[in-house]
Amino acid sequence: MRILIANDDGIYSPGILALAEIAPRFCAVRIVAPDVEQSSAGHAIPGWRPLTYKRTPIKNFEAYRVNGTPADCVVLGVHNWGKVDVVLSGINLGSNLGNSIWHSGTVAAAKQATLLELRGIALSMPATQEEPNFDMLHGAIDRVLEILFKDPQLKLINVNFPDVESKGLRWTRQSVRHYNGKVVPGEDPMGRKHFWFSVAPIEGTEAGTDRWAVEQGYVSMTPLRIDLTAEKDLAAVAR
Ligand code: MN
Repeated sequence: MRILIANDDGIYSPGILALAEIAPRFCAVRIVAPDVEQSSAGHAIPGWRPLTYKRTPIKNFEAYRVNGTPADCVVLGVHNWGKVDVVLSGINLGSNLGNSIWHSGTVAAAKQATLLELRGIALSMPATQEEPNFDMLHGAIDRVLEILFKDPQLKLINVNFPDVESKGLRWTRQSVRHYNGKVVPGEDPMGRKHFWFSVAPIEGTEAGTDRWAVEQGYVSMTPLRIDLTAEKDLAAVAR
């Protein structure tokens, strides 16, 4: 089995190596990732400029950097390597829960795999002030991959780890909370104005969702789908 590893934090993120070092026990691994950070780039594919694909070995892993988005990395990685079975995206330093899925480059890389008829698994952990503790996650990542690799029916999965020793795994649905979308103005040292976009949630956490599971100390696994059709609305207007 061939595993392509991508991310949106960039080729030199420690999260990518943490994933690569766990994956080989199952199969052949290749890393293809953006040359610089592309967090929150979503599923963009810059169609207005050419892409480059440059060899950048990381430890003993065959790796390539792309001057594009996470989705570009998956497309180029598959094109240049040939048949790939699973795309793993991550481990992202920052959770991808609920509404984050819409902006996430990490989830977009997994979605891109699904659009190419491959399987895509996005993996994220909370960003904290401390260095990420991949050793603590090792056992949980191992279990998650074992479960997901055994079930080829699961095409697209969003996995989120808690920032504590996990209490176990939970199958969840996506949280659909809204956020305030507040714009926070600031000033750089040269006195130039800049802005930050804040996404503080408006509603509380709903039980059974990805956000709820991670808050409770569980690993959240959410099966996603590409079809965004609102089935109930469609049925209502069709009547
Ligand atoms: Mn990221």
